[in-house]
Amino acid sequence: MSYLRGFFFLRKNPSEIPASDWITFDEIERLLRKRRIDTSWLVRRGGDHEWVTIAELMQEAVRGNKSAADPPDVSFACIKCRVALRIQLRFEATIYRCPNCGTSYRSVQASASSPVFLVIPADNSAAATGAGPVKRSRSELPSEVRGALTVLELDETSSFDAVRQAHRELIKSYHPDKVAHLGPDLQKLAEVKTKMINASYKVLEDFFAANGR
Ligand SMILES: [Zn+2]
Repeated sequence: MSYLRGFFFLRKNPSEIPASDWITFDEIERLLRKRRIDTSWLVRRGGDHEWVTIAELMQEAVRGNKSAADPPDVSFACIKCRVALRIQLRFEATIYRCPNCGTSYRSVQASASSPVFLVIPADNSAAATGAGPVKRSRSELPSEVRGALTVLELDETSSFDAVRQAHRELIKSYHPDKVAHLGPDLQKLAEVKTKMINASYKVLEDFFAANGR
């Protein structure tokens, strides 16, 4: 694994339009070894605007200035047990497990001009069959309802008005127009996320209709 994490856009000279896909520094090193490129080629770090030569980038890495490429932390509530989780996002595909209930999550880095991560529940049959302790919430809401609230980034005290507003805002942020400039992977994930948001809204709509708003 390369000491330079993150993703980069590559081009031979300033007048050239870079390929739309980003590559990792591992791949850049591989191209260098094969002499398909040399260290005078220009790279731009994802999230940056400045192009530098590969040679300059390597010098910068040697000096230890790696912080700009380090992915951020993210906090969220476990979708199953609602324990607060804090994970360090990694550019490599990584599975994270909730220490409380064992639900798995994976982070997906999008092919975007700035680092965009989606943390999505990973397929986890162990968690689905109830392995591991699951803390019941104080209010004993059905797990389906709690999950739906988590998807809409709400807590158990939320009103139906809050549900409606959260649904409207989240749907807006994953709208195809908003993700059209991103890679096909992220567009697909936005589509999945939109379906999750709509399904969660339906669950809550039914729940509030049956239990009062
Ligand atoms: Zn959990």
